[in-house]
Amino acid sequence: MGGKRGMKTGEGQSPALFYRLGLTREKGLFKRRRDTYDGIVVPANIAAHNQKFCTEFLGALSKPYFIDPMTYIFARPLRRIHRSRRDADRKIVRGQDGKSVKESSLRRSFQKLIEGGYQDPFGEIVQRGEPLLPSDFTATLSSKLAASVSDFQLRGLAELPAKYAKYLPPSPSRPSRHLPCLVVAPYFYLDKAAWRDWLQVNVEMLRATIQHVGGQAPVYGVVFGDTGLLDQQRDTILEAFESVGPSGLLLWFNRFHGRAGASDLAGVAAFVKRAAGSGLPTFSLYGDYYQLLLWHLGLSGFACGVCYGERKGVDDDTEMEGSMPYRYYIPLLKKKVVRETLEAIRGIAGIQGLACSCEICGSRLDPLSLDEEQAKEHFLCVRAGERELTAQETPTAAAARLRNADRMWKPRVGHVIRTDELLAWARIIDGR
Ligand SMILES: [Zn+2]
Repeated sequence: MGGKRGMKTGEGQSPALFYRLGLTREKGLFKRRRDTYDGIVVPANIAAHNQKFCTEFLGALSKPYFIDPMTYIFARPLRRIHRSRRDADRKIVRGQDGKSVKESSLRRSFQKLIEGGYQDPFGEIVQRGEPLLPSDFTATLSSKLAASVSDFQLRGLAELPAKYAKYLPPSPSRPSRHLPCLVVAPYFYLDKAAWRDWLQVNVEMLRATIQHVGGQAPVYGVVFGDTGLLDQQRDTILEAFESVGPSGLLLWFNRFHGRAGASDLAGVAAFVKRAAGSGLPTFSLYGDYYQLLLWHLGLSGFACGVCYGERKGVDDDTEMEGSMPYRYYIPLLKKKVVRETLEAIRGIAGIQGLACSCEICGSRLDPLSLDEEQAKEHFLCVRAGERELTAQETPTAAAARLRNADRMWKPRVGHVIRTDELLAWARIIDGR
């Protein structure tokens, strides 16, 4: 990721779009639509568990990628990465509180991550059964963690089979290696109760990682906390990260999404503006359309899953079950809806009202006739168009477009679906 905002996307500058690799069956979609996005984010446990698949997939795709080291999870109650109990039909068993019932053993993907990737320090933590605390971070542990986590990112998916190596740009030193476009320093959630201690740990991990990686790849730090905390402690937090000289910053606003309240939207916008103002490339790990708009305030880009993963909380279950429910993205409302909502809106607006001109829909197709795969492909195509439009239009034009959409849609479908966020976004972008 080079250039002023750190994410070059071909011709000129536009928001960088990365997709998070989740289900292996998205492989075909990502290949078929490789021109609609800039890169792939691979969660470290998935990289470890499906190493061969991921290496070959990324090699054949030959697009930038990076590995999310997922280290925060080792500082949360460890039962979260324990295997969920499944019934005879392989369905996850849930207790009365709706949470999955856990077995005493680790999930296979995290076990693989420890055994084949991170090894010692994390293995010891899991064995003692208690999550990491800031007081655990001695100088020795910090440099061990920085070394094992960055080595895994640099080596985990980089060794290409010869048949794919020919697609990569020639590199005289290591012709058959497909290195990540950046290395992410081990990171931990800035828990409100101990955020100063965790901040210190994060900054120390970042410093140690920069030292260990030694210029083999750009090193990014992750700022991860609640929107309220990040907003209130903006300068303290960012100055601490900036002081060790990272190549860029990844942001994760805990559980935040574009339909949050006005103060959260403003808090995130102010944080992005301040972070990007230092000149460092700044990229969100999770996001929806609102993050695309934040490009106007300096955000380099963001990542999300194809039809999920637009937001994430620190203690969300990372285990996925079966297929994700059908979601259709309504371009005018910037929203993904389930089939029932789509039916209700189509009943009011008609097929014409919902017409989409993307390559899949081609202005005529009834969105309800799209299957799950086509709905995802529609999303990729529409998002690519939105990215181009964002890069071309002024903030004022973007805000006017959002206000128009609200004016047009609220009287018709306002009782079925909220459109208020369109106005809230417009206010943030043009300040009116
Ligand atoms: Zn479409």
